[in-house]
Amino acid sequence: MDLNYSPEDVAFREKTRRWLEENVPRQDLKTLDERKAWHRTLYEAGYVGMLWPKEYGGWGATPMQQAIVQDEMARIGAPPPINGLGIGFIGPTIIVHGTDQQKQRYLRKMLTAEEIWCQLYSEPNAGSDLASLKTRAEDTGDHFVVNGQKIWTSSGPIADWGILLCRTDLKVPKHKGISCFLLNMRQPGVEVRPLKQITGLSLFSEVFMTNARAEKDDLIGRLSQGWEIAQTTLGYERGANSLGRVTRYAISYHQLVHAAKELKRGGRPLIDDPVVRARLGKMYAELEVQRYAGLRVLSGLNKGETPGAASSITKLSYTEFEKRFYETALEILGPWGQQMVAGEDFEEVDTSSGEPGTFATAFLWSRAGTIYSGSSEVQKNIIGERVLGLPKEVRADRIAR
Ligand SMILES: Cc1cc2nc3c(=O)[nH]c(=O)nc-3n(C[C@H](O)[C@H](O)[C@H](O)COP(=O)(O)OP(=O)(O)OC[C@H]3O[C@@H](n4cnc5c(N)ncnc54)[C@H](O)[C@@H]3O)c2cc1C
Repeated sequence: MDLNYSPEDVAFREKTRRWLEENVPRQDLKTLDERKAWHRTLYEAGYVGMLWPKEYGGWGATPMQQAIVQDEMARIGAPPPINGLGIGFIGPTIIVHGTDQQKQRYLRKMLTAEEIWCQLYSEPNAGSDLASLKTRAEDTGDHFVVNGQKIWTSSGPIADWGILLCRTDLKVPKHKGISCFLLNMRQPGVEVRPLKQITGLSLFSEVFMTNARAEKDDLIGRLSQGWEIAQTTLGYERGANSLGRVTRYAISYHQLVHAAKELKRGGRPLIDDPVVRARLGKMYAELEVQRYAGLRVLSGLNKGETPGAASSITKLSYTEFEKRFYETALEILGPWGQQMVAGEDFEEVDTSSGEPGTFATAFLWSRAGTIYSGSSEVQKNIIGERVLGLPKEVRADRIAR
């Protein structure tokens, strides 16, 4: 692992810090239009789509430069860019599997957030077992007609386009009869119903498709290649570098230490309580482990390595850490956790009127990470089978009695 910053990296960090100090919005961005405008400013400065190839509107930067930008943004509390699903993994999937026409049509508007994207994979009975999905796409000769239901669609309420998995062949084994399309969300056959989450926010939704239209030109890859394409998407989704996230945890951690010095219980500062000090110490040690894990991924990415199935280790580790972190924070803060705003920021745009991230909200939200992009249990299966080479799982419902 090479952890040294080159002189170029140091200069890049200084330039980024100066730019952010001059440009970060002074007040909260409340509406989608305000978030889009800030996103556009970030994009034009070269801070969005940093790793995308230049020919598709990206900046061809290094993973280290991207990590520096994430770090500096978290440090100054800059609102993050939007369209995270599009830029993080739908666009890269189109770059790998899409036609030239699809790349020309969709990628640039994705980067500039002129068009917001969502991921239409999960269904009520197809989450971990994604290959069981039932949404159908039938070929009418001219186009495909789509019928079915998706669920947990992040950014659904604000999305213009979605990447969609559908069953196109019922006669073959379930993994082999799936195809992948790009679907226009702004058409009469697509109905989006926001779901209210425990945090009070509505970041995701149900999506009902009734005779919706998917164009032939919007089929990604070949017919029935959907499962392979889904693996590409999930690889980008889980493999992302988590260093920006670690900086946000660190900011929350320092807020917590500060609060423990200020807040009193029984007339004495919380920090005087040996149990509180022990908890904070343990959390600091865990935070350092996360920082080094993030640096290890970054070091690999800088050398051109792809994390592959090993990305499940990182994902499992930081999402479970996040749960422990905010649980401990609430134990220390007690009722103050309902009031104190944490360093955490939600990457997507909310359309409801939920309050910004207090420690209590961050605690509730921290459950989500251990479910999306494959639950913790599923990550453990992947690590066991594909990283450690253990025998394949035996599902309880398949054990012969
Ligand atoms: C905040 C959030 C955002 C999301 N955004 C999107 C999105 O934008 N697009 C999208 O398509 N989906 C999205 N999802 C859905 C997500 O991918 C699924 O929730 C996830 O794959 C789990 O599927 P499930 O909810 O159907 O649970 P299930 O698969 O029914 O799992 C239920 C429980 O059983 C366990 N389990 C299941 N299978 C196994 C197994 N083989 N071995 C051991 N344990 C097992 C799981 O770990 C879990 O605890 C989102 C989810 C969340 C929480």
